[in-house]
Amino acid sequence: MKPINVTSNEDYLIVQWDEKNTDEILLTSVRWNCPCAYCSEARKDAETEHFTVFHKEELTVDEIIPVGNYAIKIRWGDGHDMGIYTFELLKKLAKEG
Ligand SMILES: [Zn+2]
Repeated sequence: MKPINVTSNEDYLIVQWDEKNTDEILLTSVRWNCPCAYCSEARKDAETEHFTVFHKEELTVDEIIPVGNYAIKIRWGDGHDMGIYTFELLKKLAKEG
């Protein structure tokens, strides 16, 4: 399972799996689920609803960087780029959407 294209707009990460299947995942959800160690820790401590805790630049996608054959990295507007989003994770987020 590997998308043929991953792009973003102002609100969504758009994952095109093939000609027929496209998932749109809210950027708030993508950022909230950042799999890096730092964000995983922060998530554990967070008690507030995640939609309220992000600044605009933290939800802006500067760059989408392919990682091997299995994942992408997202460089966010605040410079954070530690999270490696496997395609499996993207699929899961899309389902939770
Ligand atoms: Zn992170």
